Amino acid sequence: MSVGLRTVMLTIVLAAGLAGVFYMGFSFAGEDSRGFIPSLEVVGDVQDPLVLRELDEDAFLIETVHLRDGTARAVSLEDLLRKAVPRSDDIDLLLVGDDGGTAVLSGVDLSGMRVALGEQYGWEVVNGEHPVSSHARMLREIVVIAGDLPPGEGIGLIDANSNLFRLSAGELHRGGYSVVMRQAGISSVAGDDEELAVSLFDRERIVDLEGFVDPSALDLALVVGDRGEVQLLRGDGRFLLDRNRISYAEGEDVLIEEVRGLVLDPPDRMITDVYRDAQQFLQEEEPVLLLLLDGLGYHQYVEAAEGGHAPFLRSLPQPEKALAAYPPVTPVNFAAALTGVTPDQSGVTRRGIRTAEVPTIFDLSLQLGRKATAILGSIGVIGLEIDPVLCVDKNSDGSTDDEIRDAALARFAGDYDLILVHFKDIDRAGHDHGAQAAETLEQITRIDGYVSDLVRAWDGQVIIFSDHGMHSTGEGGDHGVFRVEDMIIPYWTFDGGRIHE
Ligand SMILES: [Zn+2]
Repeated sequence: MSVGLRTVMLTIVLAAGLAGVFYMGFSFAGEDSRGFIPSLEVVGDVQDPLVLRELDEDAFLIETVHLRDGTARAVSLEDLLRKAVPRSDDIDLLLVGDDGGTAVLSGVDLSGMRVALGEQYGWEVVNGEHPVSSHARMLREIVVIAGDLPPGEGIGLIDANSNLFRLSAGELHRGGYSVVMRQAGISSVAGDDEELAVSLFDRERIVDLEGFVDPSALDLALVVGDRGEVQLLRGDGRFLLDRNRISYAEGEDVLIEEVRGLVLDPPDRMITDVYRDAQQFLQEEEPVLLLLLDGLGYHQYVEAAEGGHAPFLRSLPQPEKALAAYPPVTPVNFAAALTGVTPDQSGVTRRGIRTAEVPTIFDLSLQLGRKATAILGSIGVIGLEIDPVLCVDKNSDGSTDDEIRDAALARFAGDYDLILVHFKDIDRAGHDHGAQAAETLEQITRIDGYVSDLVRAWDGQVIIFSDHGMHSTGEGGDHGVFRVEDMIIPYWTFDGGRIHE
C-alpha cells in the first residue's frame, strides 16, 4: 500500500471536528515544558494501531533532522503509517496535541514529512526542517481517517429496509465522542497508622451516536458484533471508541469487543428461529421440511416476486423478514440456522470453520428417535450428526440443484420427520451476474419450480429460508458485509400439507 501519492496543497485547519469554524483551546508548549513525553499513538482507520514510546531502531529507519536550534531523531511519516496499515489509500490525518490542539492534514503529499521526537516539544510532525504546525507539538495521536472506507469496514447502521450510514473509527476520533471518567475501582494501601484509599479511573471515549441518528431510532435496536454477537441495545448501554474499533458495554462489562453494526427497528425474526421452529415441530411429531435457498436476499425475493419470476413462492403466505447472522456467509448461517445460536456461541464465526461447537437440530432428532436426512451439494457445509446425502452433477449441466431436487423427492416416501434441502444456484448466479441481474432472476425462477415440486409433494410443515442475501458490485455480486442486502433474508413457515389442499 502506498500512502499519500497524491500531491495537493497542505492545509492546516485548527478544528474541533469537521467544520473547522471554531477553535479549540490550546496552549503553546513553552521552554519549560520539558520532562515527561507521552506516547504517540497512531489510531483510527488502521488495521494495526501503533503506540510509540520511543523511536525504535529495530522497527524504523531513524534519521536525524535539524530542528530549530538543535537536532532530533525522526522517522518518515509514510513509514510510520505503513506500519499501522491504513484501511484506504485515500486518507486524511488528524494530528492531536497533548493539549487538545489539532491540525488536519488533508490531501497532503506525505513524502517529505517526518515524525520527530525532540526534548523540547516531544513528538511533532515536521516537513523538511519546519514543524508542520506549532499547534500539533507534543503530539499524542495521529488519527487516520479513510476517505473511501472499503465495504465492510467501520460500523454500519441499517434497518430492515435500507442502509442508513456507516461510521468509521477515524471519523469518530475526529469528533464523534465524549470523554467520560469512569471509576474503575479503589485500591487501598496500608500506611503506618491509616489506610490510604486511591480511586482509580478509566478514561472512556463514549461514541455520541445521538449526534448521527435520531435518539428515538435507538429505542429498539440490535447491536451486532464481529463474531456474530447480537445484543439488544439497552438504555444504559454505551459504545466505546477504542484505538481502531468500537465496542459495546453495559455497566462493567464489555459485551461486544468489536461492533460491526446496528439494526434499528429490527425484524422480529432471526435465522436462529429455524432451529426453534423445527424443534417445536419435531416435539409435536410433525414432519418438517427445511428448504435453504442459498443467497436469496429479501430484496431479491421482492424483485423476483413483483416481476413474476417466482410464481410459486409468491403464491405462498407472505414471507417474513429475518436477520441473518454476521458475517452473512453460508457456513456461518448454516450453523446458526441448525444450532439455533449466534456464531459467537456456535463457534462457526467465519468461512473455513466446518464444525459447530454445539449440537445441531439433527442431534435433537436423533435423541427424539426421529428419522432425519440432509440433501446437500457435493461438499456439504458443516459437520452434522447424521450422514448427509451429497449430490454431484451427474448430468453435467453445471448445476447440482436438479440432482438435489431429485434426491429429495426420492426420499419423501421414506417416512422422514426432518429433511434439509440446500439449493445453491441463486447464490452462484448472484455472484456471477449481480443480485438482480436477469440471469439471477432466471435462476430464482428455476429454484422456485424446484421448491414447488418439493412442497407439493411434502405432507408436513415447511420452513423456507435463506442463509444470506447478495449485493451487486462492479463485477457481479457479493455478500459477507453488514449491509441490508446481505443481512435481511426471507423466511416462510407454513403447513405444507394444507397449502395444496
Ligand atoms: Zn456466496
